Amino acid sequence: MNIKWISLFLFAAFLIIDTNMVSAQTEITKWQGDKKGAVSITYDDGSINQFRYALPVMQRLHIPATFYIITGPIPGSKYQGKFIGRPISEIIRETATQPTNEMNYFERASAAKYLGYIGADAYYDKSAIAFEDGKLADAYKIMDSLYSNVRNGSLKKGMELSDEVAQEKGLTWDSIKKYAGEGYEFASHTITHTHMAVLDTTNMFYELEKSKEDIKNHLGDRYTFTAEIPFGIEHPRAMKYSLPSYPTLRNLMTDPYMQEINRGYKTQPGSAGKEYVQWQRGGTTETPLPLMQSWVDTTLAHDNIWLVLVFHGVDGIGYEALPHQLLDTYFQYIKQHNDSLWIATFSDVAKYMRERMHASLQTDKTKNKLVVHLQHSLDKNTYNIPLTLKTYVPQAWKAVTVTQDGKHQKVQANQDAKGTYVLYNASPNKGAIEVAAK
Ligand SMILES: [Zn+2]
Repeated sequence: MNIKWISLFLFAAFLIIDTNMVSAQTEITKWQGDKKGAVSITYDDGSINQFRYALPVMQRLHIPATFYIITGPIPGSKYQGKFIGRPISEIIRETATQPTNEMNYFERASAAKYLGYIGADAYYDKSAIAFEDGKLADAYKIMDSLYSNVRNGSLKKGMELSDEVAQEKGLTWDSIKKYAGEGYEFASHTITHTHMAVLDTTNMFYELEKSKEDIKNHLGDRYTFTAEIPFGIEHPRAMKYSLPSYPTLRNLMTDPYMQEINRGYKTQPGSAGKEYVQWQRGGTTETPLPLMQSWVDTTLAHDNIWLVLVFHGVDGIGYEALPHQLLDTYFQYIKQHNDSLWIATFSDVAKYMRERMHASLQTDKTKNKLVVHLQHSLDKNTYNIPLTLKTYVPQAWKAVTVTQDGKHQKVQANQDAKGTYVLYNASPNKGAIEVAAK
């Protein structure tokens, strides 16, 4: 091919691409409302001051949030922490002759919190952390010391509450229902706030599924879309069994179009080249306010970041408790950027992204209107968040009416480099959307 033919070929290719772009008349904006990024505020453990002091700040500012709550200790929950398996006395007896190994570790770990001795929890925690760090021999040895102390009577009899469970005292289903009615999201943080990676599968499923059932029975199906497995864990064994239980875990999302930067990671967002980045940041007592504010600034400097903020304690109760005055200042800063940031619950943002990534669009032109068909291939009952569409319209159109299923929206046309457009929300898998000059 000589130069002349190559340039002719390139020109033809350009024409084809250009024609496609013109015919792609409608697009789904990356974030609802065509914003620059999304922010989800999340709280773990349901510690009581989250509701006494942080929630009123969010109510005043009209900011939504997601609360991952421990369901077992809430009065009226059907399922409390327990060990499911052989009689515990049998397990204790066996430990006298059989050292802990990979065959019996998960059973012994599952039973450890229910032996009925003060101090057992500390051994359980230490052993689980060693296991999660891959130090299996240490994990087994610590488990052996626990059971040997139980056998020789050096631990005092009694039941103890974990810190997280004690800190939730005062939370009721009635108050949760009231807050859910105001738009706050509640989701499972398991029944007992346990180390999921060291439980046997029976006890793991109990923590996952029965916590879900209590949430479903008190609040409804909608609140079983997400969960957080305690300690922000990403351990492969915990994830293997937990991921199938919920459509999303805050711990780990495996959507191929999204990069996830979890709390502990130092990676800066923006360089991955993925459609979306979920950037989790945890505010602790070591985090200065300007650093927390810079996370918002970084989100605004890109167009693909979903900033997921993770908080625990408030005003002296809970892990890394922050004063509510600090949260107030920070939330005001977030709210100031409301025009550019989509502030939404964890599930709403996750659903929007998935719907958009699984959607198909078709825009038909008739003489005086555009007809848009919007579909996605996901479960229609679960994935029902309206998507924001951007439709390019004839230049002469100034005020536009958008109609779907008999409901009208009046929208003003705007301009960008590609032409005149209108922005509007539409529901996927519902009636055709008609866009017409008013
Ligand atoms: Zn937690």
